[in-house]
Amino acid sequence: MTARRERSRGGARAGSGARRNPSQRRDRTGETVARPKVERVAFDLAGDAPAVVLNPERERSLLRGHPWVFSGAIDRVYGDPGSGATVRVMTADGRAAGLGAFSPQSQIRVRLWTRDAAAVIDGAFFRERVRAAIERRRALLGPESLAACRLVHSEADGLPGVVADRYGDVVVAQFTSAGAERWRDAIVDALEAETACRAVYERSDAEVRELEGLEPRTGVMRGALDRGPVEMVEHGLRYRVDVARGQKTGFYLDQRDNRARVRDLAREADVLNCFGYTGGFALAALAGGARSVVSVDSSADALALARENLDANRLDAARAEWVEADVFQHLRQLRDAGRSFDLIVLDPPKFAPTAAHAERAARAYKDINLLAFRLLRHGGCLVTFSCSGGVSADLFQKIVAGAAVDAGADAQVLARLQAAPDHPVMLAFPEGEYLKGLILKKF
Ligand code: SAH
Repeated sequence: MTARRERSRGGARAGSGARRNPSQRRDRTGETVARPKVERVAFDLAGDAPAVVLNPERERSLLRGHPWVFSGAIDRVYGDPGSGATVRVMTADGRAAGLGAFSPQSQIRVRLWTRDAAAVIDGAFFRERVRAAIERRRALLGPESLAACRLVHSEADGLPGVVADRYGDVVVAQFTSAGAERWRDAIVDALEAETACRAVYERSDAEVRELEGLEPRTGVMRGALDRGPVEMVEHGLRYRVDVARGQKTGFYLDQRDNRARVRDLAREADVLNCFGYTGGFALAALAGGARSVVSVDSSADALALARENLDANRLDAARAEWVEADVFQHLRQLRDAGRSFDLIVLDPPKFAPTAAHAERAARAYKDINLLAFRLLRHGGCLVTFSCSGGVSADLFQKIVAGAAVDAGADAQVLARLQAAPDHPVMLAFPEGEYLKGLILKKF
């Protein structure tokens, strides 16, 4: 800790030139003023809620609107806050920067609930946050999409660690931070009240909970759920969603509008749909008039549901082929068999959850994109995605460009894709921008 502080101080000195007394800082006019002692802040807070005081060299990001405080950015903690407790976040010179949830085990030690230090964090606060999030969707989406959409998207809706997806009259909620866990009941009450849904099902089984010291938990939280999948409609197509055993909360709602793009590209096309899950892109392509669609996924359960989804929409089953296989291997088999396609979709799982995995992920992205370029006919389109938070849109395009070069393919960027608007991104929180895609036309 000391070493880290010393290093960052050194960095600051390098910029400003002169060595400064650490108990002094410059105000806006450049005058050197005495910095109030942190002890004074403690005195002011006596008897008040627990508080964290930021390291003066590390408070910039929070003051610029980022909602996280890393453990290394905290100078002192007052009051002994437990997991998920509300803490006041103070700058080194004693200003209140907001209220957040404390997470003693996570490197992300505090996630901010609000910048209004006078706010009260209680059930009514969460009811209002949930109401506002749903209201924003109402302004964005038509009635059909509103019935199957992401209602709450974590930091972007002022509810870090909370995700809520609606599938018809069932809401699936996921809590992945200590603060979200602490207020879970209040948030679920709000979701139930604001949506009048039949059931709320919990899918708090994401791995990231471990980093917060939380056990996985799943099950019905409110109402009752029949056995078997829940029904939803997306762009006129019916999908069955297994909210209890499916991946994430059951369906990849973030690809809604990108599936519509694929539908528009699919007329008369031979389509290869890699990482097909429960048939999202496959059904979209068939509805768009595809001649044939080969879908590849390693999950037999997902493919079984994909077949049911196809039947539920009375699409021509003879045009659809479902292959249970590893995409990396199957692409090679298709190449060796001399197969080719007019439209290829690559929608792999998260290869790089954080930037630390970026290099290995880059190799995996390059591999599948290179093979896809080889399998693509001239004039055909590759629709390729990355949902890795650790790979930026810029880096992803570079990786795909490298794949095209190695495949000897010339390609044009027809469009850049992102998650549907019910998965918003805050400008001050670029980490929230996880899904990026490209539509590329091969010459
Ligand atoms: N395109 C889908 C979502 C894909 S999610 C949609 O629109 O709904 C990623 C999918 O990749 C999952 O279904 C998972 O089972 C599958 N998967 C993960 N690794 C795989 C691999 N190596 N080979 C084949 N499928 C894989």
